[in-house]
Amino acid sequence: MKKHTIFFLLAMALTFASCGKQASDQDASMNAFVDQLMAQMTLEEKLGQLNLPVTGDIVTGHARESNVAEDIRQGKVGGLFNLKGAAPIREIQRIAVEESRLGIPLIFGMDVIHGYETVFPIPLGLACSWDMEAIETSARIAAAEATADGICWTFSPMVDICHDGRWGRISEGAGEDPYLGSRVAEAMVHGYQGTDLSDPTTMMACLKHFAVYGAVEAGREYNNVYPDDYHIYNEYLQPYQAAVNAGAGSVMAAFNTIHGIPCSGNGWLLNDLLRKQWGFRGFVVSDYTAIEELMKHGVSATLEDASIQCLEAGMDMDMVSAGLVALTDAVREGRCSREAVDRACRRILEAKYRLGLFDDPYRYCDTTRRAEVMLSPQHRAEARRIAGESMVLLKNENNLLPLQKKGTIALIGPLADTRPNMAGTWSVAAVFDRYKTVKEGLEQALVGTSATLLYAKGSNLMYDSEMEARATMFGREMRDSRSAETMKQEALAIARKADVIVAAMGEASEMSGESSSHVDIEMPDAQHDLLCELIKLGKPIVLVHFAGRPTVLNWETEHLPAILEAWFGGSETADAIADILFGDINPSGRLTVQLPRHVGQYPFSYRQMRTSRRNDSGEFIKYSTCYADVSNWPLYPFGFGLSYTTFQYSPMTLSSDVMPMDGTVTASVTVTNTGKRKGAEVVQLYIGDRVAKGVRPFKELRGFERITLEPGESRQVEFVIDANRLSYYEPYALQWTIEPGEVEIMIGPNARQTDMRLLTIE
Ligand code: BGC
Repeated sequence: MKKHTIFFLLAMALTFASCGKQASDQDASMNAFVDQLMAQMTLEEKLGQLNLPVTGDIVTGHARESNVAEDIRQGKVGGLFNLKGAAPIREIQRIAVEESRLGIPLIFGMDVIHGYETVFPIPLGLACSWDMEAIETSARIAAAEATADGICWTFSPMVDICHDGRWGRISEGAGEDPYLGSRVAEAMVHGYQGTDLSDPTTMMACLKHFAVYGAVEAGREYNNVYPDDYHIYNEYLQPYQAAVNAGAGSVMAAFNTIHGIPCSGNGWLLNDLLRKQWGFRGFVVSDYTAIEELMKHGVSATLEDASIQCLEAGMDMDMVSAGLVALTDAVREGRCSREAVDRACRRILEAKYRLGLFDDPYRYCDTTRRAEVMLSPQHRAEARRIAGESMVLLKNENNLLPLQKKGTIALIGPLADTRPNMAGTWSVAAVFDRYKTVKEGLEQALVGTSATLLYAKGSNLMYDSEMEARATMFGREMRDSRSAETMKQEALAIARKADVIVAAMGEASEMSGESSSHVDIEMPDAQHDLLCELIKLGKPIVLVHFAGRPTVLNWETEHLPAILEAWFGGSETADAIADILFGDINPSGRLTVQLPRHVGQYPFSYRQMRTSRRNDSGEFIKYSTCYADVSNWPLYPFGFGLSYTTFQYSPMTLSSDVMPMDGTVTASVTVTNTGKRKGAEVVQLYIGDRVAKGVRPFKELRGFERITLEPGESRQVEFVIDANRLSYYEPYALQWTIEPGEVEIMIGPNARQTDMRLLTIE
């Protein structure tokens, strides 16, 4: 069989070549600087660079007296993380620079996941904008704010592909698709790092969690993952590689194992794949205590063994375990190689050099800049716009939305008047009291109109107070001590007076994120019961649904006329919701995870691989792949989202129905805005390889374009199909390959609604 293999390395080499001499000059001065510095360092000091301890009592403001401060003086610390504020960071940096023997500056990291004080939508929501410029802007603004506060390194982007809504961390990634995930990964890295890492407004990205963390079995946090190599390459690795190719300066190893070896101590993963195959030149950091957790995995008996294994496998920096810093004896006694220590130390020093910390260790602690950039009106305006783009209109019967700014609106639900829940999970630097509640957002939007807004909480999040405490940790508490009956009656009385009910309900922000796996992903009981009572009033209800994951919305879809998936929109959530509800902006978000009909469908993805007992209807057919009690299809498909206008697609065309393997063919479609409002549409390109050496998905995303059309306007959207768009990692050889044969080329507004033409590859 004729075969054509494409090497990404070639593309990378071309990219590097275009950067030319400038890069090599910089590398030469960096190498000379690091050589000269390392020549002066003791073994202890080199190991110290690999140490990333918890900030401990520094957080409480006693930097001078803390143990960590003493370690810094002795050169035993390479960096610190999740410490907020330019003043404490400056003071600690001063200790490193002025009181340690060699004065090597520290690197300061933080989980700046979706914004800093200006908070953007949770990453899952951000991805639903399908707007790469907006995503890059969000990272750019996050960097501008975080760097003004002393942070020069973020533990983001999280690019783990996930097919399981039970996993709470699905909120932190771009969703289920590797192609889209790769584009988002690139946009995030470019946004954070800009074109110059030493620019004091950019920070170093850290892609995580390398690798395949999103495949945790049964969606249970910190569980094992089992995809085989073929699926690892074809479904999971691409976004990590895209982030590396985009220049990510660092990588965080995942908690899970691959091939039976924890990622932190996995030489195949860190040395062979990441460095040798992909050409990664930055440093690798462990996840929180992941090095010592090799003992919990049962692959090392002692912290020293675990640390040696990780270091030799390509780990450079140890988050919290304090294992690498304690390897002095192991090195002196020959159990651990000096070369491994030197390699890791060099990579940390190079990162600090690239960040410009040796030129000016305080370059990221500019308090005057803080005053200018933090939560600036421009940042908030961008965050509001982007939050609006992230929300997905799922249902809008009889054009109930947008609402008119008149009559009486009853706002009901436990998410309607809570400030700290708006930012969403993993918003470490958020300042909750600076953000509005949904109630305040709607009130403000209605100022000067004849509309009346009434409010009642209506219920707690759920009946079980212990479960609610878990769902509202870290300052997100909102439990009401009144009885369920009292709250319900109050809400019903308010709702009776209204023309329309807006129900702000769903998950609290800490129901997703780290260590928040759930098997029940339906509307929590107390809120469901309240909705059941509200529909009896016979008034139109708009559900503004909050969630950090795909949830099961069958009942809501059946009983409610309008549903807006708001995710958690960040600091400007409230205004963005008001913008959409009252039609000041037209919703344009599209799902990047499909919504299931039943939690029992998990794990599932629209990228369904062909199976032997294939089932095209998705319904029950004995001896085909299906369930006896629920359809195979999602409730809302990947790529789906409504608008206040309508779009019509012309039949798609191909410039030729035959393509040589090294040639190109153009697929095109004309999209027309057939409604009365300006709106944005995401035109999606899918491919389906009918016969290949390895089993392929029926459909996989390989292109998209977000277009904005005026009413009546038409636009032709073209996708150039080439070998890159059609390739996959063939089994065993795991090389990026295109094979001859028939490929379905599909274009449409979502994964379930596509027009198809057949293309023959020769
Ligand atoms: C998480 C990482 C995070 C780190 C530091 C870990 O528990 O898995 O994603 O970056 O903590 O906060």
